Amino acid sequence: MNIVVLGATGSIGGCSLRVIRSLGFKILGISGGKNIDLLEAEARKYLPLVVAIADENKFFELKDRLKDLPCKVLGGQSGILELASLKEADRVIIAISGAASLLPTLYAIRAGKDVCLASKEAFVLAGEILKKEALKRNTSIIPIDSEHSAIFQCIYGNEKPERIILTASGGPFLNRETLNDITPEEALAHPIWMMGRRITIDSSTLMNKAFEIIEASYLFDIDVEKIDVVIHPESIIHSMVEFSDGSVLAQMSVPDMSLPIAYSLTFPKRGKRMVSSLNLSKIGSLSFKKPDLERFPSIEFGFNAKRIGGTMPSVLNAADEVCVENFLEKKISFNKIFENVKKTLESHIPKKDPTIDEILEADAWARNYVKCLHQ
Ligand code: NDP
Repeated sequence: MNIVVLGATGSIGGCSLRVIRSLGFKILGISGGKNIDLLEAEARKYLPLVVAIADENKFFELKDRLKDLPCKVLGGQSGILELASLKEADRVIIAISGAASLLPTLYAIRAGKDVCLASKEAFVLAGEILKKEALKRNTSIIPIDSEHSAIFQCIYGNEKPERIILTASGGPFLNRETLNDITPEEALAHPIWMMGRRITIDSSTLMNKAFEIIEASYLFDIDVEKIDVVIHPESIIHSMVEFSDGSVLAQMSVPDMSLPIAYSLTFPKRGKRMVSSLNLSKIGSLSFKKPDLERFPSIEFGFNAKRIGGTMPSVLNAADEVCVENFLEKKISFNKIFENVKKTLESHIPKKDPTIDEILEADAWARNYVKCLHQ
């Protein structure tokens, strides 16, 4: 099988390259955003046929650095979209962070590729459109996000569930009383998962769960009222589904993204083992509790944005994306993320059944609005 990895210089992308090699599949193409050194190193290690860099200013330098390799080098967004639609590819892993993942996902689906989707933002922005496009072209969208992979695994070959129970580790501040004085360094120290900066901050604010609620609702065509969130700090159960007879199925494993990545590549089969065995007697106990919606209002932002629908989820993502950047640059406090995302959501007049252009307009509006709040 021929695979393209978009976002290969990131946490999921890098893990994907190792998994693909270990499974014996071919890495046809890789892309990065700006990190030219890592992209070059990956190109030399994995010898893909196509290498693309999103940052246009780095295109000529990358082309020059890779001139001794038999690969085609592409640059800019058009280069990423060309790679997403590469004729020879069977599956495309989408691991680009943020709203920038939307168009590559759309192009891959439109080119008839099966998509292994890590980038939840693409589905938050345009889940309905992406689902319709995939149905039209008979392509599969196989989630990589561990929660959605868990749900996907539980429902495959089963009836549609009545309820989805998304688990959440709770992040590093689960038991911290006040969130005012949190520094970026503290928020970047996730207790379980090693991830990119945006998703790590989103995990600490539980905004990540808000996006996952929206992603799950679109991906599994389930009303948000049938989605529950439960805090499960051990991150052993990756999510659960409940069927009409009251049966609940859970997918468990040690927390390691190699497993959902590998499953997305071998689906509908199971491939070789990537993770260690789960030793429940050593773990001892698994705990669960209700999320604290007062301290972490983000979960409600997710439910409400999906209830309203249209352009509202894209506004939630864009406002959060800017707030996270500004928090990491120490321009705003941790609590301001909640405050300013809320203000942006309240000021947006959503558009129903938006086109991709209208979604991108709403995204741009929200970025601009929230930036003004920070001046
Ligand atoms: P990283 O920040 O580690 O990686 C992001 C990747 O996207 C990098 O390759 C980056 O390139 C690239 N990128 C950034 N901006 C652009 C752009 N404008 N155009 C093209 N490429 C771009 O993030 P993660 O790997 O942690 O996450 C990737 C996605 O997977 C996110 O949507 C996240 O929510 C999701 N996810 C991640 C999990 C994890 O464990 N990490 C778990 C579940 C989901 P460069 O660095 O070269 O600039």
